[in-house]
Amino acid sequence: SSLEETLLSAIRTIPDYPRPGILFRDITTLLGNARAFRRAVDELVHPYAGAKIDKIAGIEARGFILGGAVAHQLSSGFVPIRKKGKLPHETVRVAYSLEYGLDEMEMHVDAVAAGEKVILVDDLIATGGTAEGAVRLLRQMGAQVVAACFVIDLPDLGGRARLEAMGVEVRTLIA
Ligand code: 5GP
Repeated sequence: SSLEETLLSAIRTIPDYPRPGILFRDITTLLGNARAFRRAVDELVHPYAGAKIDKIAGIEARGFILGGAVAHQLSSGFVPIRKKGKLPHETVRVAYSLEYGLDEMEMHVDAVAAGEKVILVDDLIATGGTAEGAVRLLRQMGAQVVAACFVIDLPDLGGRARLEAMGVEVRTLIA
């Protein structure tokens, strides 16, 4: 079957989670499906095969799972971008917008070096607030953000356009 069918049928939709009125796209069913997981990772990495990407930056928590697999496949290092207070060494921190209000995310100061080529990975882009925060952290340390890759795009929420306006190439597999 087509990539879209394979991925769409492997994602479960949970109504009213985490709040009434929200349709949550649950990717744990995709991760648990060996064929769908492999196809998603293969499809995320294939444009970058041979591109000498130094680091994959994954956003806590589902971006760690996909990003780890992508890093392995591209022979890149992996950098965790975490909610504040979770990383043990000195960090750089950025505030980012959520649907309601602000939160903060962090990365170790020595996680990327100036000039390194980095790909950002997360499971889903909605408003793009989370990914924008991550791009700002990476750029603050001088990294070159080659692309931001997501399995799922929620196009009505404008995240792709928001990242593209920052000059970031965006790759998504299904909408
Ligand atoms: P944004 O900052 O683009 O509005 O929201 C994207 C972030 O929230 C991502 O880190 C993503 O994992 C999480 N997120 C928001 N809605 C969903 C959803 O329906 N399903 C999943 N799996 N993650 C979501």
